[in-house]
Amino acid sequence: MTTSQAKPSLPHVVALGGGFGSMYLYKTLSRMARRKKIRLTVIDRNNYNCFHGLVPEMLTGKISPNSLLNPLRSVFREAQFRNGTIEKIDLDKKEVLFSRGLDGKQFQVTFDHLFLNLGSVENFSLFPGIREHTLRLKSYADILQARHHLIMMLELADIEEDPVEVERLLNFVVAGGNYAGVEVASELADFLPRVARKRFPNIPVDKIRVTLIHSGDRILPELGNQFPKLRAYAERLVMGNPHIRLMTKTRLASATQEEAVLNTGERLPSRSIISCTGTIPSPLLGTLPFKRDRSGRIITDEFCRAEGSEFVWASGDCAAVPRSDGTYCPPLAIWAITTGRQAAINIKATLTGRRLKPYRFNGLGDACTLGNWRAAAHVKGIPLYGLAGYLSWRGFVLAYLPVWEKKVRLLFDWLVAPIFGRDLINMNVHRSVGVTPVMFEPGQDIVREGDVGQSLYIIRTGEVEVLKRAENGGPPDLQATLQAGDHFGEAAVFQGVRRTATVRAKTRVELLHVMREAALALSDSSPFIAERLSSSPADSSD
Ligand SMILES: Cc1cc2nc3c(=O)[nH]c(=O)nc-3n(C[C@H](O)[C@H](O)[C@H](O)COP(=O)(O)OP(=O)(O)OC[C@H]3O[C@@H](n4cnc5c(N)ncnc54)[C@H](O)[C@@H]3O)c2cc1C
Repeated sequence: MTTSQAKPSLPHVVALGGGFGSMYLYKTLSRMARRKKIRLTVIDRNNYNCFHGLVPEMLTGKISPNSLLNPLRSVFREAQFRNGTIEKIDLDKKEVLFSRGLDGKQFQVTFDHLFLNLGSVENFSLFPGIREHTLRLKSYADILQARHHLIMMLELADIEEDPVEVERLLNFVVAGGNYAGVEVASELADFLPRVARKRFPNIPVDKIRVTLIHSGDRILPELGNQFPKLRAYAERLVMGNPHIRLMTKTRLASATQEEAVLNTGERLPSRSIISCTGTIPSPLLGTLPFKRDRSGRIITDEFCRAEGSEFVWASGDCAAVPRSDGTYCPPLAIWAITTGRQAAINIKATLTGRRLKPYRFNGLGDACTLGNWRAAAHVKGIPLYGLAGYLSWRGFVLAYLPVWEKKVRLLFDWLVAPIFGRDLINMNVHRSVGVTPVMFEPGQDIVREGDVGQSLYIIRTGEVEVLKRAENGGPPDLQATLQAGDHFGEAAVFQGVRRTATVRAKTRVELLHVMREAALALSDSSPFIAERLSSSPADSSD
């Protein structure tokens, strides 16, 4: 293990996570760091921060993928930046362990004040299949994959002749009627028909459908009762869009490769299920002795200090900071910014022996984009609709982007897109060449007789049926039932033949999907594996 130390006599402030909270902590403390009054260290697993407010515009090719990213080394110039994954926080020893991505080698850093800004992580426990079969919008890698996936759906729909498959390709399901879900659904319903009309002559544009699924009875709970007219305006636009189907009081019960299964039992054919169903705070917080709110955030006092501690501060999505109206700050960027700034003011006050100042911010405004240059926004309590709302949203974004270079690039993107059109490059970043877990619901076909196959499957849990088409056109004949430990699809991989049977999930079934390249590499490496993979109880299935 390596110790990361320099000039130990100066008070050392260590920020965990380089999100909005840390950026605004840094703005307030950087002068002290420059004058060598303190040492400031920021640790983040990425050397960039992702600006999530721009995700819907990036997904739909309005701005370039890079415009979302802010380089942390340009932001934290007067601080020591450490690119690693935080593994452990020891409050007794006042030290943090982090590891490097290459091989897990660990490093240690000690602190006098600790600032928690770890953001949030995806909640994979919401419904089965969320990990395997949804497009997710939290990590940059996932966002980039989602962007290319959407464009790929258009490319595939343009050459597809089977109407059932065309429906799957042109149905997009968005789970979550919060800001992120409504923005994504609205931008998609604007973007997909628009580019299909212009660039994909074979796509039946009227078949493009974005289904927005929301568990509550009204979308945009964030607008709540405070701005009923704004919420009604957003609802009107969403419900009036011929390409959006809004389903309230409905939940996604599971996500599979070809269908979204709803809690009502309805099954929506789709190859694109986008999850905007929420996040949970970093699991690292659970290792600390502080009180947490119902969603797992660290509860702080009015000075942004973890309750009961003199030297641990928290801000942003990982902190429940009390507001003057008795509620806690919501997990949105503006609250991360202002609580980060407040924590910095109070760390400075602690170091210079002055009185701490309570957090008094009550909100500046908010905006939800609704596609086609429209948004529902409010600034200092004043509601703004349509174009005025959208321009105020752009103003917010430009104001809060932390790096000047990025502001200029974003402005450039916004100017260029209306002139030259959206960027439609599909880099195929999704393509799996290895082994991926997949899940199917009862009754779903995993492979279909007659299809070209490029992979085999190993059953982890559940049962499947191997079915062969009947000669006389009657119901298919059951050839075999396979269960955990069995595999199928090997003939397509090892003999290059088409699937000679359909394999259908009998129960919910979890499988490993092994691509041809990976299966061949495995069988080349060991005669034992080769023998096991190329012969199976389901030989007849291929
Ligand atoms: C799809 C989507 C759309 C959104 N749209 C909006 C919007 O329109 N408006 C809005 O106000 N908010 C929006 N949000 C919410 C907003 O992004 C967050 O509220 C904001 O980013 C929180 O800032 P933060 O400083 O708390 O954390 P973050 O900005 O998330 O930063 C946390 C940092 O901690 C790092 N980190 C976490 N764990 C570790 C670890 N173990 N080791 C090392 N580093 C670690 C991460 O890499 C990350 O850089 C959206 C969020 C999503 C997912």
